[in-house]
Amino acid sequence: MADGGAVLPVIALVGRPNVGKSTLFNRLTRSRDALVADQPGVTRDRQYGFGAHAGRRFIVVDTGGIGQDDEDIDTRALAQTDAALEEADLVLMVVDYRQGLMAGDEAIADRLRRNGQRVLVVVNKSEGQASVSANAEFHALGLGEPWAISAEHGDRVGLLLDHVFADLPEPRAAVRAHRPDAIRLALLGRPNAGKSTLVNRLVGDERMLTQDAPGTTRDAVASEFFFDDKPYVIVDTAGIRRRSKVDDGIEKLSVIKAMQAAEQAQVVVLMLDARAGLSTQDIRLLNLAVERGRAAVIVLNKWDGLSEDERAKLHAKVVERMGAFDYLPLLFVSALHGSGLRDLMDAIQASYAASFAEMSTPQLSRALEDAVAAHAPPAVHGRRIKLRFAHQGGRNPPTIVIHGNQTQRLSAEYKRYLVRRFREHFNLFGTPIQLVFKNSD
Ligand code: GDP
Ligand code: GDP
Repeated sequence: MADGGAVLPVIALVGRPNVGKSTLFNRLTRSRDALVADQPGVTRDRQYGFGAHAGRRFIVVDTGGIGQDDEDIDTRALAQTDAALEEADLVLMVVDYRQGLMAGDEAIADRLRRNGQRVLVVVNKSEGQASVSANAEFHALGLGEPWAISAEHGDRVGLLLDHVFADLPEPRAAVRAHRPDAIRLALLGRPNAGKSTLVNRLVGDERMLTQDAPGTTRDAVASEFFFDDKPYVIVDTAGIRRRSKVDDGIEKLSVIKAMQAAEQAQVVVLMLDARAGLSTQDIRLLNLAVERGRAAVIVLNKWDGLSEDERAKLHAKVVERMGAFDYLPLLFVSALHGSGLRDLMDAIQASYAASFAEMSTPQLSRALEDAVAAHAPPAVHGRRIKLRFAHQGGRNPPTIVIHGNQTQRLSAEYKRYLVRRFREHFNLFGTPIQLVFKNSD
């Protein structure tokens, strides 16, 4: 399943502060940088990310520092850490070769051993050292044979992943639709946004259950439905939350669940309670969905019972907060009353179509030529950057490969300009666009 549909393994990074967790996180998630960098204003999540290695995808969670001054870390952060650990298929416990074995490391190791989790000790900052000598003193942690790396230099990180994936089970297919041509949707949003109400509306009596089928997924509930005779599968994360009775409102597991749902989907549907608007958490989910290259639509629910005036105000507020996501359709529905659903499904279809758009090399090259003619890339050190032609490198998300000279000197602003031009030219609304640059000099 090249374009998703599998439950991804989750790798959690733990360790004392400053051992190099975020450096390792960045290295493991680097493959997605190109996409995010070309999305105006989209910031990468510093804690959660998607990684890929030799064709295998995974989720990485940086739990931040644990084990040091636990009292100083608020209980919320600790709960997040515990949740990430609970959810992880593998914990990489990062230690610092240069500092050597510290009491804090032992405390963390104790805790992990009690959890009974699969743990691999990663001895970081061991550049220039033979593994055997770097690892020596960390055997004392009692967590098996350590693995020496340098996160900063990348030494033995690829081998680490080979090693890790040799042991992790093959990803399981998450959603098995009866109709393989069904468009897969992930429904994300905060508690009480109205997700279950929407699913009930859409699925109705037709509820054809892939739901809770054994072995399908531990992460979401999937239902199949038809709209206008077209088949869909909707993966809804709400049911899980109910069952796991997470009561603190933080939804401790929700980010990983949401990432798994986005992985499985072709179109992410982010549902908001119109009165609550677009929260920081919602934006985080959008960032992650875009980072994974998913098409998306934003739904403002509970549109009923609002005056014209209130609607206009709430709409304006959401549009203002959307900022970088202004290419995503914004829909107004009442899941309760079933109004606005046709427009919503039309928008989903359009975003899906944009995400899978086919663009020929002459069309793309022409669009590039027009864009450059209207606004040439600024010269850098007196030399013009040349953009010669473009071809399509992939779909879902649309990937445009641009050939030229010195493209590494293009500013982020100019790349955003190009994305905007391609978007308008090919009507690619509702999906992120990935640009890839190739130099011929
Ligand atoms: P975290 O607090 O565990 O997330 O640690 P960071 O990733 O922020 O790294 C802490 C410091 O260690 C930074 O100054 C990094 O540049 C440095 N660092 C990380 N990895 C390596 C490495 O492989 N070798 C060396 N020499 N320094 C590293
Ligand atoms: P979930 O947690 O996102 O699954 O949200 P629910 O579907 O359980 O809905 C939360 C509450 O919002 C319930 O009391 C619903 O009846 C209510 N609700 C859902 N959709 C609408 C709507 O369109 N209008 C109004 N007024 N209430 C709604």
